[in-house]
This record gives sequence, C-alpha cells and structure tokens, in this order.
Amino acid sequence: MSHDLPKAYDPTAIEDRWSAYWVRERLFDVPTPKDAPDAPAFTVLLPPPNVTGNLHMGHMFEHTETDILVRWQRMCGKNTLWVPGTDHAGIATQMLVERQLADEGKTRQELGREAFVERVWEWRQHYGGNILKQMKRIGDTVDWSREYFTMDDNLSVAVREAFVRLHEQGLIYRGAYIVNWCPVQQTAISDLEVVHEEQKGNLWEIRYPVIEEPGQFLTIATTRPETMLGDVAVAVNPDDDRYKHLHGKRLRLPLMGREIPVITDSWVSADFGTGAVKVTPAHDPNDFTLGQRHGLPSINVMDETAHINAEGGAYAGLDRYEARKRILADLEAQGLLGTTKEHVNSIGKCDRCKAVVEPRLSMQWFIKIQPLADKAIAAVEQGYIKFTPEQYAKTYFEWMRNIHDWCISRQLWWGHRIPAWHCRTCKQITVARETPAKCSHCGSAELEQEKDVLDTWFSSGLLPCSVFGWPRHSHDLDVFYPTQLLVTGFDILFFWVARMIMLGCHFMQDVPMPDGSGRELKDAVPFREVYIHALVRDADRQKMSKTKGNVIDPIEIIEHYGTDAVRFTLASMASPGTDIAFSEARTEGNRAFANKIWNSARFVFMQVERAKEAGITVDLAGLAAALKPAADAPLEARWIVSRLRMAAENVQSALTNYRFDEAAATVYQFFWGELCDWYLEIVKLRLNFDDVSQKAETEAALRTLLAVFEVALRMLSPFMPFITEEIWQALYDGEPPAKSIALTVYPQPAAMTDDASATTQMAALQDLIVTVRSLRKDLAVPEKEAAPIEVFSGSAFGEQAQANAPMLAKLARVSGVTIAKAALSGNNARSTADFDVAVVYERQIDVAAERERLTKELAKYDKVLQSSEKQLGNEAFLAKAPQSVVDGLKKQQAEMKLLYGKTKAALDAL
Ligand SMILES: [Zn+2]
Ligand SMILES: [Zn+2]
Repeated sequence: MSHDLPKAYDPTAIEDRWSAYWVRERLFDVPTPKDAPDAPAFTVLLPPPNVTGNLHMGHMFEHTETDILVRWQRMCGKNTLWVPGTDHAGIATQMLVERQLADEGKTRQELGREAFVERVWEWRQHYGGNILKQMKRIGDTVDWSREYFTMDDNLSVAVREAFVRLHEQGLIYRGAYIVNWCPVQQTAISDLEVVHEEQKGNLWEIRYPVIEEPGQFLTIATTRPETMLGDVAVAVNPDDDRYKHLHGKRLRLPLMGREIPVITDSWVSADFGTGAVKVTPAHDPNDFTLGQRHGLPSINVMDETAHINAEGGAYAGLDRYEARKRILADLEAQGLLGTTKEHVNSIGKCDRCKAVVEPRLSMQWFIKIQPLADKAIAAVEQGYIKFTPEQYAKTYFEWMRNIHDWCISRQLWWGHRIPAWHCRTCKQITVARETPAKCSHCGSAELEQEKDVLDTWFSSGLLPCSVFGWPRHSHDLDVFYPTQLLVTGFDILFFWVARMIMLGCHFMQDVPMPDGSGRELKDAVPFREVYIHALVRDADRQKMSKTKGNVIDPIEIIEHYGTDAVRFTLASMASPGTDIAFSEARTEGNRAFANKIWNSARFVFMQVERAKEAGITVDLAGLAAALKPAADAPLEARWIVSRLRMAAENVQSALTNYRFDEAAATVYQFFWGELCDWYLEIVKLRLNFDDVSQKAETEAALRTLLAVFEVALRMLSPFMPFITEEIWQALYDGEPPAKSIALTVYPQPAAMTDDASATTQMAALQDLIVTVRSLRKDLAVPEKEAAPIEVFSGSAFGEQAQANAPMLAKLARVSGVTIAKAALSGNNARSTADFDVAVVYERQIDVAAERERLTKELAKYDKVLQSSEKQLGNEAFLAKAPQSVVDGLKKQQAEMKLLYGKTKAALDAL
C-alpha cells in the first residue's frame, strides 16, 4: 500500500480485496474473554436467513443498519460481537429438495426418511448458505468463527433439552386438534403461516330430511359441501323461531344415511346463510369447539393429501374438489340441493406453497404457552426490553395477550425430530434427552420415535441462549447474554422475536448470574432492545414483488455502484418507522460522493508528497495535538476542527436514536460541504512548500489537514467501510496503527476543541464569499477577472474580512477589501444581517458588439414568444394537448417575456 491511489475511483477494484481481507484476518472474531472483560459487551444476533436464501434488498437494508451500529459500537470501545448463522428452514428446504427429486422423477417417500435427510444435508453442503458468501461480500463485520446452523449438534442438544424440560414442567401436551393443514407439504402449519385471500365462491344450500317428520327438511348452507361427509350434527340458534319446532329432532345425513341430531347453540348466527349450520368437528375449528361443548364425535373424512378417506363412503379416494363436484351432482339428482348463491370467501392459503389450507383434525404436540407468555409480557411491560419504534410494543402486547397454545409439531422429515418414543406394548410415550432403550412405563423395548419434527421457530427461538452454549452454563453466556440489540423486520415479530422472549425468559431464569446469584427477569431477557426496521420499496414507493417485476437485486446494484454507495443510500433514508423508496438516482449521487472522497484523498496525498520533497515529514501518530489548535491558530484550522467536533457529536446522537438518515446527512455535509468545498480550498493557501520562510506555517497546516482528514475517514467508515479502509491504509503507507480502520476509535468530540468564535467568524466569511460570488454573476464579471469589494458592518467584520483577504481572493476573486463608512446600496450591493457588501466593477464593454448581441437575442426570444403564443391561441391544439404540455408552454412564455423585457431594457440603456 502506498500513497498512490489510482486516478479513478473504482469500487470493484477495492471492495473484493477488503472483504476478503477482513474475513481472512478474522478481524471481527471475538473469543470468549478469559476473565470478566473490562469493556461492556455489545452483542447482536443476526436474524438467521434461511439456508436456502439469497440476499435480497430487505437483507441488504437490515445488514447495512446493523453493520453501521456494530462498527460504530466496536469503534466506541465496546466488546462487540455480531453472531451469524443460518436457519435450517424446515418447510422451505424440504420443498426445495423435494422439487429437485421430482426433476429426477423421484419422491421422498421412495427414498425413505433417512436417505432423504441425507440428501438434504448434501444439498446444504453444495448449495446452502449462499447468503453467507454474499454477507462476506458486503462487508458484514460478523464473527465468522461463531457461525452456526440451527441443525448443528450443539444447537440440537439445546432443542432437545428445551423440549424435555418443558415436558417435565408439564408445559408440553399432545392432543387431537384442528390445525391448518397444508395438503401439499402434508404438515400442520401455524396460523402465522396462513395467508388469507378473498375469493369468489359459492354458498350452497343443502336440504337434510327430518327423520321424525317425513317430507320436512332442515336446510343448511355451506361453502365446503365435501365436508358434509363428516357431519355429526346440525346446529341452530336456540332463539331462532324458524327452527324451534325442530329442537331435539334427528336428521338423515344425505348421501351417508347417518342419523344426526339437531342441536342448539347460541354461537350460531341466525343471520348467516339459512341460520342452520352443519357441524363437522374434524374439519372446522369452530365446529371443533362446538363439538367439544356438545360431546359430539369427530369424523375425519380426509387424508393427508386432502383426498377423501374410507370414512367418506362412496367418495373415498377422490380429491376434495372432485368430491365436491360429485357430491353436488348427487345431491342435485336426489333433489336435496337448494339454491346456490355467489359468496366471497376468505380462503386460507399456505404461505410457502400457496395450496389451499384444509382445517384438519390431527394429533399434534403443543406448548401450554400462558406461563411463558406471562413472563414475556412482564419483561416488556417492566421495560426490560425496549422496542423502537415504540408502537411495536403495542402490537406485541396485543398478540401476546391473545395468544393460543403453540402447535410445535410439523409433519416434515427435515428438522429436529421430537424426542418422544411411542411404546408399541403399552402405547404410552417416553420423552427423553437420550434415545431410551426401554419404555419408561412398562419397560418394553418396543419403542418407535415420534415421526414429527419441531417447528423451525422452536429452534430459532432458542438461539440467543443456544448460540452461547446453553444448556451448559458457559462463560460465553456470562459475557454475552443478554444480547444488547436485535435488528429485524416486523414480519417476524411474532414468529421469532416473541418466541425468543418467551423461551429466553423461561429458560435463562434458571441460569445463575456470573457472580453466582440468582437471575432475575431483567437479565433473563434475550435482548435489551429491538429495533424494527422498515421496508425497502422501489423508487415509486411500490412494494417490491416478483409479479410486478420491480425487484432490485442488491448484488447487481452493488456491482454497478459499489457497496459503499448502496449502503450510504440506504442509510441516508433510514429512520425509525419510515419505509425506504430505493432510488438508483440517489445511489448514483452517493457514488459521486465516494468519488469526491477519493479525489480529496488524492489531493491530500499529493500534499504529503510535496511536503516530503520540501523536507517536511509529518508523524501521523502525533496528530492529536492538531485537533486542539491554539487560540492564535489560523481561523480555518480552528473552524474545521470545531465543525468536525460538532459532526462527530451529531453522528453519535443520531445513531443512538437510530436516525441513520441524520447521521449520514451529517457525515455527508461535513465531508463534502465543509471539508472538500471550503477547507481544502482554503488550506491550499497555507501550503507553501516552496517558500522556506513559511515552513512552520505550512507544516502546521499540513498537520491540521492530515489530522482532520484522518478523523473524517474514521467518522465515515461505518457507513462506507470499503473506500475508507482503502484510503486510510494508503494514508499510513503500509504501517497502519491497527489492522483495519474498523478497529480504531470512533471520533470522540472531547478530543477536539470547540471554538465558537471561529465558527461564527467563518460563517460570516462564508456568507460574504457566497454573496460576492452571486453579485459577480449578476454583474457579469468575467470568471477570471478579480474585483475589489467594499464592506460595511456595525461590528469588526470589515477588519476580519481584510485579515482574510487571501481567502477571499481565492474563493471569490476579491482583489481588495475596503471598509465602507456608510451602508451600501445600488445594483452592485447586497445587505445581510451582518454586513453590506458591494462589488466594485465597471463593465468595459464594446457598445457596438454588445448592441449586436442583444439585438440577436431579442430576435430569438421574439421568435419563441410568437410561436408559443400561436400554439396557446390554437383551440384545437389546446383541446388535445395534455395539461402538462400546456402548462410547460405557459411557463416558457412567461420566462421568455421576462427575458425579453430585461434584454430590451439593457439594449435601451446602451
Ligand atoms: Zn404448503
Ligand atoms: Zn410401554
């Protein structure tokens, strides 16, 4: 590495190199400290992406925000650990491998369970975890030595322990229950995995003959007629006068011939359909409750694939929709089908495979959730966990206070198999940590392990404990638990965040504190803060979706603009609760910002080289003093250090409040606005390498320049880690004080002097310079020509302006400053709150040439005016033209009139 930076900034040339370096050098690995560490821990757990996943814009955003915070906290001296890993993603991964098998003409059933699971591991070996490579590419500063996979042995031990303990505590039970059943994946799925869609369907009326009163019927209405095969009753509201005469009577179930009772229940709404509802406990959650209340049997008429089973009589073997058709036809033929009405249904679909979910009675495992939920509610109520934005605490409470027992079994092959064994001899169940040899009830060796696996969220819910070694009481747990922060999306607030809180609070209360004392709820929580980030939408604020075709691939955009520009764009729009409209134009703007930084570095390095030639070398290790300039140091030095201090302070407070946007704006404004546009221009005047008499002054200026530039790089580095690493390493010319800029200290305001008077003075001078520039433009002073100014002010500002004449000369082409005795006016003067200024300039003009030029211009304007007048007077044109075109023309006309007037006046004045 040397001071030579290539002329052009090319992110592709530097980013891969640094991301590989960071990983190779294991810069962000955090071994377990031997003793209690001095620095407080800042631990963050990455929401584990699915092992099948690829980085999308949502990840890019989440990782950018997290990495900025993590880099910043690390540079602030915290013992910072960001733990990466992937989730085995039961349903998604099984689906993917099943699809692969299907391409080979095979099914998992043909393969058998063991071979199938083997196959999934193989798949993972070859294709899984692509997202981890992408994370390396974008520079996430995670500890790769701690990378986990939820199916790893150590994490599986934790899963087993958690299950067995909950079982021992009487918090796990098994029961027949109506679950959302996906007939494609043939597994129960949770309420959260069901997406509801409005769909046009029918409401069919079916007439059930009344046994006691031949010729009489009770008409029910249903949207799923095929489930009638499992009917066990018909229910009416007890107060519904229409049906009072049928209370206690029996009906003949059409097509099946079974006798079923008419029951009364006030849950039935007299207004829906006919006011009489069929009761099918095995295929509808409400009917299931109703059935339990009335002691009715449950008849399951469908198999795992939503085909009618043997209980469905003549319809056995038919797919549910085929059965529906046949049943309706048969009812029609028997004269039992009443009217058919169109009806909009809310259809539940499987979030993964989009199959219509079938409510189905099946044997499942559940967690009695209330005792866990109570602690999790208390943890947030008592402020042990804080949500940002705050409104998510409300959402959390709403869900937690209406929580149902958690169905944790899934009928999949890929996942943590439930540690329960069924005894073939006594039919009892043995739950154990280790595979038991004998039934714990009768001692029989005829055991078979439960086929179901655990819901994927059961294992990911344990991660904050299990990644640190739980159920062992590890030193890692002492040091890193609870984690400080979780950055995640609202879509997994219940799936994951709430479950981590429940499981963490439940299990960790049994783990003593590092000093051996008991652990209270406040230290059992899995994290102290949850930051829920917003969504990334497209530039038109539309949600990105494959169907709309507006999905932006972060890797593609990174290849085009560089990771730094993409990160900076995301950061500059990120604040709590605000969705991001990702725009390429802004990214291009931030790419230009990176370019500006690059060029400023080249300028700085060039000064260092020039200094060397002049015999001046600056020891970069001794620059701290330059950040505390003496009161008599040059104005611009005191000013830029003050501004840098202010910027560092603002970034710190913005990041504390998750105002990434404000932090980014501060850095941008400082780097581009103050450092590049002003300071670098002014400091050039002090760098007189050829003038031996000014050696001390030059050296001092160079020291300030280097000190400020180096601090600015550190301030920027969490936002743009690649370019800052490249420049910072080059600055140190192969001998950096740390292996990475990411391992240095974040700029601390206390290390820099605040100089209010320098700030005020410089602000006034800047104001003066901007005013003079604009005056010169209005007066059409040629760019190259210098002109003197007059300044009038009630204070000492005139003298200050005179003292900074070289700065004014350089930045506003001021050839001299005279202090005026009275207020200034006229078309060459301007007034501000602090001063009046006039540019003294006599235009030297060639009257004949000027007249010719103005005449030509007048003619041009006139032509345009005439043409637009003609168009705007044309009714036919106006009737057809879009409003925007008409408005444009009107605007143009007004502008032209103005220009015409001005030019005419100038011509007359000649
Ligand atoms: Zn499905
Ligand atoms: Zn037994």
